[in-house]
Amino acid sequence: MNLASNVIRSARSYPDRAALRLGDDILSYRALDQVSARMAGLLRDRGVKPGDQVAIMLPNSPEFAIAYLGVLRAGGIVVPMNPLLKAREVAYYLGDSGARLLFARPAFADEVRTGAQQVEADAIIVGPGGFEALLESAPLGEDVIERHEDDTAVILYTSGTTGQPKGAELTHANLTRNCDIVSAQLLHLTSDDVIFGGLPLFHAFGQSCTLNAAVASGACLTLLPRFDAGQALRMLAEHGVTVFAGVPTIFSRLLQPPDRDVYDLSRLRLAVSGGAAMPLQVLRAFEAAFDCVVLEGYGLSETSPVASFSRLDAPRRPGSIGTPIDGVQMRVVDDSDTEVPQGESGEIVIRGHNVMKGYWRRPEATVAAIRNGWFHTGDLGRIDQDGYFWIVGREKDLINRGGYKIYPREVEDVLYEHPAVADAAVIGLPDPDLGEEVGAAVVLKPGAATTAQELREYVKRQVAVYKYPRKVWIVDALPKGSTGKILKREIVPPAALGRP
Ligand code: AMP
Repeated sequence: MNLASNVIRSARSYPDRAALRLGDDILSYRALDQVSARMAGLLRDRGVKPGDQVAIMLPNSPEFAIAYLGVLRAGGIVVPMNPLLKAREVAYYLGDSGARLLFARPAFADEVRTGAQQVEADAIIVGPGGFEALLESAPLGEDVIERHEDDTAVILYTSGTTGQPKGAELTHANLTRNCDIVSAQLLHLTSDDVIFGGLPLFHAFGQSCTLNAAVASGACLTLLPRFDAGQALRMLAEHGVTVFAGVPTIFSRLLQPPDRDVYDLSRLRLAVSGGAAMPLQVLRAFEAAFDCVVLEGYGLSETSPVASFSRLDAPRRPGSIGTPIDGVQMRVVDDSDTEVPQGESGEIVIRGHNVMKGYWRRPEATVAAIRNGWFHTGDLGRIDQDGYFWIVGREKDLINRGGYKIYPREVEDVLYEHPAVADAAVIGLPDPDLGEEVGAAVVLKPGAATTAQELREYVKRQVAVYKYPRKVWIVDALPKGSTGKILKREIVPPAALGRP
């Protein structure tokens, strides 16, 4: 088994169909097959062996897909990384995953080189010409290296319910089954479909539900490297997009341009929301404005990612996350892992073919997360009388900023490195556009003099731009429990910050 076999199959069935589109440039399935085979040959030439990790830190682009499929074809393990990461984060991800080779863009070359040097990894900087020069003389390898279905295909970084980012090990079987179910049973994709490629491909949602689902069904993925509502609407109309996938913030931004009605989106048949709770009024407004059905799904990096989904062929329950997908079971349990009565709230746990193998090189974290075969999500939910699941909250320490997840601990660690900081707590603040915004309450060391602005800039220099706290406020003390644990729920930001 190899997830990359899908490209070979689609190239046989639909050689001349568009696989990837970026602006007016189109790459057919035949070309994607050939160029990803060359990439596999190049990687083997550079010493990448089956089971080796290779990092990809590229924005949405044909190069992302070519590198992704090339690494898999060579039998390697893909480590996708957000292209916005700063040097310390690059070093952390490379060091933790053990990737010795990394693909990145010139725009991020300084951060990448500094980070890669710290862990003695090599960076291939992909210039404006893409892979053309690099692959010109690359040897063609075998079609695809066979892997066992339980071999790891991708290591996706996420924090789980707590702590520093950890790599969720997703196998060829995890990813192949998830994208097959998404494309065939949930989205009913065919080679006539054109899928909106604006979700980041380094993240589970974009990777499985857009890239892998497109390649599995011979559909076209039209790529948008950086989201802009006007550009996205133009692309939806001009490229004849039939299936849209996004996080709720993107849905609400597409509703904002005053001229949105001039775009002809008549080919759009389906929109899929995931990654964060979809506000009902946004869902209804989107369906009315663009005359299409919006289906909400739910999942995590650790579940490849789709666990539950609303169906086209079942009664709609807008606001719910639907029912478990084929071969997957979901339950709602209490603190002692006992199922709660129907209608009551508890933690959602998941079992099935989509659950990761474990956290990369973290057996203890794996045992803590997967208990008795059930993966513990840290999300709170309930089941209604018809078996539909509803998210009601979150137990884990995480901030969901427009679908981008921020792990407070990572940002707090940076704050604690500042010489003036005695105590810090990073929390989510309600935000009308993003759902949540990052805030930090900080206690200074006695006699230390710094400002909230300086602390904000200090963090901003060191972490990816979506993570730094937009709101920082200095307090005399943080609320703490008897064990000294900071009680984040009791932190109230000053009214002067405007919210909540
Ligand atoms: P990630 O690993 O980045 O995919 O993040 C997974 C987390 O996103 C979940 O644990 C949830 O907290 C959140 N999430 C995903 N889908 C939904 C949804 N439909 N509604 C609410 N939260 C969601």
